[in-house]
Amino acid sequence: MNPVRQIAFGYSTKCNIRCGHCVAADASPGTAKMDFDRAKDIIQEMARCHVTGISFTAGEPLLFFDDICKLIQLCRKNGIYSRIVTNGYWAKTREETDRVVSELMSKGLSQLRLSYSRWHQQHVNRENIVRAALSCQKHGLDYFISFVTDFSKKDDSFEQFLRQHRLKFFPEPVIYFGRAGEFDRQRVFTDYPPNVCSMNPYLSPELDMFACCDAANRFSNTHFLYLGNLRSDSIDALFRKGETHVLYHLIRTMGLTNMASYLGFKAREIVQYRSVKNFLTPKRI
Ligand code: SF4
Repeated sequence: MNPVRQIAFGYSTKCNIRCGHCVAADASPGTAKMDFDRAKDIIQEMARCHVTGISFTAGEPLLFFDDICKLIQLCRKNGIYSRIVTNGYWAKTREETDRVVSELMSKGLSQLRLSYSRWHQQHVNRENIVRAALSCQKHGLDYFISFVTDFSKKDDSFEQFLRQHRLKFFPEPVIYFGRAGEFDRQRVFTDYPPNVCSMNPYLSPELDMFACCDAANRFSNTHFLYLGNLRSDSIDALFRKGETHVLYHLIRTMGLTNMASYLGFKAREIVQYRSVKNFLTPKRI
């Protein structure tokens, strides 16, 4: 049986805003972009390698609207589930929002993921997020809002705003890398399962592939999560490398909390989130 293969696809790291918590901030140069024809070839090759889901992420994918539309079409043609992660900057008016959403739908987009947080919303009006979500509802496009939070009181009004508008969202803990590396870490508590990660790989515009979409190239001393580059390795070979790595396998199945406990760390020192209930947890790539 073929393994489930999904990937975060970094077409470009270019972004139109500068969030204070951005995990991508000190990764590859902010304007790196994949060659369009190469991106098309990669997606076709991914289809042959049984990739079933592609999430277009990294910077702001919709800055390259025409390219991304064509890549989404290619995903549809190859039976690949597609998602775009966007900050919603484009949803300034209802007309423009409807135009973008209906165009994405017509190209075959499976899901729109809207990023939302007290950091994003310093640059993008939160009404944009409401407009985009409502337009998705109107057009029948699946969506969810990724609410990036450190679970502090500062985020309560942001959470309340989403609830008032009855929007579908889930909390995504801040990752203390990139610009957020300087933040004070909050002690929070959770009823979430241990730190198990499905470890879907991330492909950068420079064609580097990493074993985990969120941590990407952060381990610059050990290169623990680096799988290789598509210029010298095939997509299938790099996927297989991630699938057969013993430690990655343990992260996927046992979880970081249990692994750390096994090594003598107390579980409560590893993860302490606040109890968060009633969040919807849609399928993630
Ligand atoms: S968090 Fe997302 S929207 Fe914000 S600067 Fe980084 S890539 Fe851009």
